[in-house]
Amino acid sequence: LGRRINNAVGNVTKSNVVDADVISNMLKEICNALLESDVNIKLVAQLREKIRKQIDAEDKPGINKKKLIQKVVFDELVKLVDCNEAELFKPKKKQTNVIMMVGLQGAGKTTTCTKLAVYYQRRGFKVGMVCGDTFRAGAFDQLKQNATKAKIPYYGSYTETDPVKVTFDGVEEFRKEKFEIIIVDTSGRHRQEEDLFEEMVQIGKAIKPNQTIMVLDASIGQSAESQSKAFKESSDFGAIIITKMDSNSKGGGALSAIAATNTPVAFIATGEHIQNFEKFSGRGFISKLLGIGDIEGLMEHVQSMNLDQGDTIKNFKEGKFTLQDFQTQLNNIMKMGPLSKLAQMLPGGMGQLMGQVGEEEASKRLKRMIYIMDSMTKQELASDGRLFIDQPSRMVRVARGSGTSVTEVELVLLQQKMMARMALQSKNMMSGAGGPGGMA
Ligand code: GDP
Ligand code: MG
Repeated sequence: LGRRINNAVGNVTKSNVVDADVISNMLKEICNALLESDVNIKLVAQLREKIRKQIDAEDKPGINKKKLIQKVVFDELVKLVDCNEAELFKPKKKQTNVIMMVGLQGAGKTTTCTKLAVYYQRRGFKVGMVCGDTFRAGAFDQLKQNATKAKIPYYGSYTETDPVKVTFDGVEEFRKEKFEIIIVDTSGRHRQEEDLFEEMVQIGKAIKPNQTIMVLDASIGQSAESQSKAFKESSDFGAIIITKMDSNSKGGGALSAIAATNTPVAFIATGEHIQNFEKFSGRGFISKLLGIGDIEGLMEHVQSMNLDQGDTIKNFKEGKFTLQDFQTQLNNIMKMGPLSKLAQMLPGGMGQLMGQVGEEEASKRLKRMIYIMDSMTKQELASDGRLFIDQPSRMVRVARGSGTSVTEVELVLLQQKMMARMALQSKNMMSGAGGPGGMA
């Protein structure tokens, strides 16, 4: 898709005159590419108008047309999927938050329940899971296995066949025990499709969820719109989780579902394992849809995106590089696409570390490093890492909290130390030997 859009834009620059006709043709090409990626046809038509208007609005004499068009296409697509952080559900501590998961069989609900449970547990919530899938044989065993592995309390029944009763009983039991988050897994199939939606309505009435989440497979095609609308009507979900983002799917169906239900995406799942779970980023999602990694022109745009740099630049100028800075940089890299290439932009041997392994392995390693820093306290993050050396028990705690090993924590600390040293050297060079700070 990305290559086709890029080609379309490229044709514009080849023609001497960029007139309405040329732009029209380019828009047609882009729209065809979107349609082929399973983006809904009505949505494509709307996009086309928006893009055309935006190009008109931003076009000024002397402006680089190719860049402008790339930027407008990218921005309009991001606008479709991005949401305001404030729109997202925030569970409250010291009260019961019931989260109900809905979605078709195979979408990844059960797997995602555990990921979400672990996500909240790591943030200090008391979390339990309830199995409401009484349709599929083995559904309870699957949830039980996942929950046990992740050390999450669970509730379910081998004998009760009424999903409304099981979910109600489970929620009540956890509520009594003052659980703060109760995640309710549901069935994704019924003898008759309409019955599934009715079942969701009944469960919803019984357990009164504070938040309902639709789990959507990224590889869903043109049926995305009708399907997600049916779930929206029966269970009025307030957020979406897109799974299987690791697959080579086109992703356009998911894009259509987001637009059709006008619902924010909270998380994405990028693999079968518990750690393959991250907060959604609109820019990241669209970059993947467009296959930005392959395209130099759009890469430039991504690099010029205003990714949050935190205090890193300021700190670096002062000759510092904290663990927090390290975390910011890794997070930015994760948002930007092809890792083995991007990691090379990081100083301190990270490039070599990541360049020798495959894309998947590099991504895995980077993510584990991020989990490690996610498990650190604010004080630890703001530090230069020395307090880990003074109190090695901190490393054990972080390793345990992030599901990694002490060796891996040490590696993160080592990387950060190397970068901190570089920051100091660079500052000393700037200020000149013998200048202030030159003797540090
Ligand atoms: P459910 O029927 O909606 O509960 O779906 P499951 O949670 O049972 O998942 C169906 C299949 O998809 C299982 O084999 C999962 O391991 C797999 N799966 C779930 N999430 C992901 C993901 O993000 N990526 C990949 N590759 N597979 C996933
Ligand atoms: Mg399931």
